[in-house]
Amino acid sequence: MSDGFGLDHLPYGVFSVAGGPRRVGVRYGDGILDLYAATGRPEFDQPSLNAFLALGPEVWRQTRDQVRGLVEDAGLVAIEDAVLHLPVEVADYVDFYASLDHASNVGRIFRPDSEPLTPNWRHLPIGYHGRAGTVVVSGTPVTRPSGQRKAPGDDAPTYGPSRRLDIEAELGFVVGAPSELGAAVPFSGLADHVFGVTGLNDWSARDIQAWEYVPLGPFLGKSFATSISPWVTALAALDAAWVDLPEQDPEPLPYLGPGATRGLDIDVEIELNGEVVSRPPYRTMYWSPAQMLAHMTVNGASLRTGDLFASGTISGPEPDQRGSFLELSWSGKEPFTTSDGTSHSFLEDGDEVVLRYSAPGIDGGRITLGEVAGRIEPART
Ligand code: MN
Repeated sequence: MSDGFGLDHLPYGVFSVAGGPRRVGVRYGDGILDLYAATGRPEFDQPSLNAFLALGPEVWRQTRDQVRGLVEDAGLVAIEDAVLHLPVEVADYVDFYASLDHASNVGRIFRPDSEPLTPNWRHLPIGYHGRAGTVVVSGTPVTRPSGQRKAPGDDAPTYGPSRRLDIEAELGFVVGAPSELGAAVPFSGLADHVFGVTGLNDWSARDIQAWEYVPLGPFLGKSFATSISPWVTALAALDAAWVDLPEQDPEPLPYLGPGATRGLDIDVEIELNGEVVSRPPYRTMYWSPAQMLAHMTVNGASLRTGDLFASGTISGPEPDQRGSFLELSWSGKEPFTTSDGTSHSFLEDGDEVVLRYSAPGIDGGRITLGEVAGRIEPART
């Protein structure tokens, strides 16, 4: 059996076999339980998880109990016979910037003459609205984006393929139960609304981003593609993974929760062309998932089933824990070398990145979240 996909995990996804209909399934070992075939419930005869997610936490919990009783006796679809699809029809997509180490590194690189952190950074989890329609499932090729780029020494911008194509290793949170327009979701509301997590790669064109982002934030430098795992791990499978996050100073405003904030002890690996080049630890993040959710809705913005919000790049304090090539190569000034002697800073055509995630499981072992893979294809100029 595949490690990390036992009874303590049971992540949800969408699959098809031999061109047949898309169905909701649960991964168990090297197989998939076809939930519609096993239960007859119409929310599983669907091309996305959304109908199931909309039913809310009580149904999620009952279903998890039911599935634990079904997977060992039911016939499973072999994973190699299945095509895996985007698991969620993404409603709105928000990306945060919740790692102190990442924000500090990027500040030093992009604004070397200023304080690394902007004055608001320790008071609120900064975020931006991304492009939901270009969230793709792991394995989808990523075409190198073209756009306006202007290096600091250039007189004027030029148009062409990005020369500074990058990744951001992140964790995504999938919203199931909606909220009412006008009503903030409290700090304590995470488990009432968020179904689970997925690995996420926020592909980023640093040259396009650096030229366009002042004053309104990321736009075309980010919106060409965001990859997620085919498997969504329910929060219920992560009960043993909660840890206290590092202390927050100054103490945030009351709506962002009292005292210690709780994060997830998820280990991330960034693999470039088959070799691990970084190991970011999610447990070092500054802002917690509950704080991001509370902040995202504090103005009364409502949640919809299928909303996706992401952590921002996960970077730890050590150089080999950085979650982007921008940081790993210090903006290309300090290229890093893989074991075959190749020097790397930003992504070349043909490069493949795989993000892997693991966490403590509820039965004492470790669970493996679905991987997030993508290969760079040349620009279409
Ligand atoms: Mn990001």
